[in-house]
Amino acid sequence: MLDLTYAAPEPKRIAGAKDDWELVIGMEVHAQIATKAKLFSGASTQFGAEPNSNVAFVDAGMPGMLPVVNEFCIEQAVRTGLGLKAAINLWSAFDRKNYFYPDLPQGYQISQLYHPLVGEGEVLVDMAPGIARLVRIERIHVEQDAGKSIHDMDPAMSFVDLNRTGVALMEIVSRPDIRGPEEAAAYVVKLRQILRYLGTCDGNMQNGNLRADVNVSVCRPGQYEKFRDTGDFGHLGTRCEIKNMNSMRFIQQAIEHEARRQIAIIEDGGAVVQETRLYDPDKGETRSMRSKEEAHDYRYFPDPDLLPLEIEQEWVDGIKASLPELPDAKKARFVLDFGLSEYDASVLTAEVEAAAYFEAVAEGRDGKMAANWVINDLFGRLKKDDRDITQSPVSPAQLGGILDLIASGDISGKIAKDLFEIVYTTGGDPAAIVAERGMKQVTDTAAIEAAVDAVIQANPAQVEKAQANPKLAGWFVGQVMKATGGKANPAAVNAIVTARLGL
Ligand code: ADP
Ligand code: MG
Repeated sequence: MLDLTYAAPEPKRIAGAKDDWELVIGMEVHAQIATKAKLFSGASTQFGAEPNSNVAFVDAGMPGMLPVVNEFCIEQAVRTGLGLKAAINLWSAFDRKNYFYPDLPQGYQISQLYHPLVGEGEVLVDMAPGIARLVRIERIHVEQDAGKSIHDMDPAMSFVDLNRTGVALMEIVSRPDIRGPEEAAAYVVKLRQILRYLGTCDGNMQNGNLRADVNVSVCRPGQYEKFRDTGDFGHLGTRCEIKNMNSMRFIQQAIEHEARRQIAIIEDGGAVVQETRLYDPDKGETRSMRSKEEAHDYRYFPDPDLLPLEIEQEWVDGIKASLPELPDAKKARFVLDFGLSEYDASVLTAEVEAAAYFEAVAEGRDGKMAANWVINDLFGRLKKDDRDITQSPVSPAQLGGILDLIASGDISGKIAKDLFEIVYTTGGDPAAIVAERGMKQVTDTAAIEAAVDAVIQANPAQVEKAQANPKLAGWFVGQVMKATGGKANPAAVNAIVTARLGL
């Protein structure tokens, strides 16, 4: 097993502060469920469709329309809960959160306040190779998304696009166990990775399919630990919530800024006001959006249009049995089975498709060598073309074929790089290309001896120098490699040069 160290955060002095402070951060991540239809209607969830083309009557809040739960969405949320080692509540219920938004025609959002589908779970956040920190999940509830108001198309009017209205979201609520900006970003990275492995959310942050609300407060060193196990964080500093962030970089910047703002207020003798703020990346600051409403402002009540959601343990067990191997387990197995460093294993398991690619190459071959080729050569080459692993022109079988030719001594490592480039750009079977193009390494001793002798005869002055200073023998090796078009076996050339020069 991996050696996971649960490191306590180092209290650090925040720039500009007079005293030592620690950060306390809890996140509410909205993950769009990967599904073709909306949560309570059959309308499509396709991204980028013509505005207002994916809207059922129920999404538009037409009178008399009734929501019908999309079972697949519930299954995806259960799968997510199980992937986060969370408790699944067999009895849950939908509530109405009442508020008016032009892009929410119902006049309320259907969510789960009192009885969420998923209870407590956890995420192991990778901070550095071998160092992980545990962030507890408080709950996951299923809810509808709102549509989109468009304010920048006309100077006098606003428009509304209801395509997103009613799309299924999972709100994944963490405990305030996150202790710094880097950890907050690493948390989102890990959560996104797990969701993508599970296939329950595509994690596309640019399209807004994964967005985070970040709650930030500051406290005196050691205060958080006092309350960690009680779960009662009300005695810590007052928090502010920064809404709707969809980039790891902005999450970090917003937290840094917000912490500094709060510390300055407290050190000046003021008090932080609990409120919702927005981060402005251009100005690098957060600004107030609205003061935090009390729950009763939303007049939450059980949605009378929907029966409580009752699911069966057997159904949950079936979903559990179908879970894929998740990132932590895969990484540990790569370290054990293929002898990889933890760093390489992290890189290879970051995306499930890359992990599958690597395994197909490494199966029955030298794991470390396979890892080097996949990480350095393949990933490097793909990056140059701005492609991801699913668009690789070289298949695992082709890359494996190249590695086999190296292992059998048919080609040198250097020729293998050329061969890789040929396979990458023109395709084809590596062994056939080597045969056709005469790229086979010369291991025939007689041929190498002849090449060495020719170089020695043509360069008597160099021979004298090398005999006086054996370090210069490398020059002969280089000449022979050049003369044979890089196809001579370098080890054999070395041995013959040394022998012929009498070194
Ligand atoms: P609310 O009921 O106001 O939505 P919750 O208790 O549900 O508040 O918490 C919302 C989020 O705020 C959670 O992610 C939680 O971890 C986080 N949170 C709670 N207390 C603090 C705190 N003192 N500092 C930072 N985040 C906090
Ligand atoms: Mg809450």
